[in-house]
Order: sequence, then structure tokens, then C-alpha cells
Amino acid sequence: MNYESFCPVCDAQVKLGANTVLDELVECSDCGSELVVTCLDPFRVDEAPQVEEDWGQ
Ligand SMILES: [Zn+2]
Repeated sequence: MNYESFCPVCDAQVKLGANTVLDELVECSDCGSELVVTCLDPFRVDEAPQVEEDWGQ
């Protein structure tokens, strides 16, 4: 079984394999946005939060 959803940014179809896991980061093949799997049942992806590279040493 594969997972299917739609990109929240450009509405393109996003298909992922059966080994997809929660919180997995994927890239929309259409707009290149970084997406994160937020739910598996029902399958849902959201735009991944932008991580600022500030590790504050
Ligand atoms: Zn997209």
C-alpha cells in the first residue's frame, strides 16, 4: 500500500511508499517544498517548519 496526499503549497499529488513513517521529511516533486508527514491515518503532509541554523554555541 502506498500513501497519497496533496502538497499544501502547490496542491500537487504526493505519493510515498508503504515504509513511510511519521515525521518523515519529503520534498514535493513539483514545487520542491520540504514537507513533513504529520499523520499516517489519514495520511497527511504539511509544510515542514523552517529550521534556522542557529545552534547558539
Ligand atoms: Zn508542492
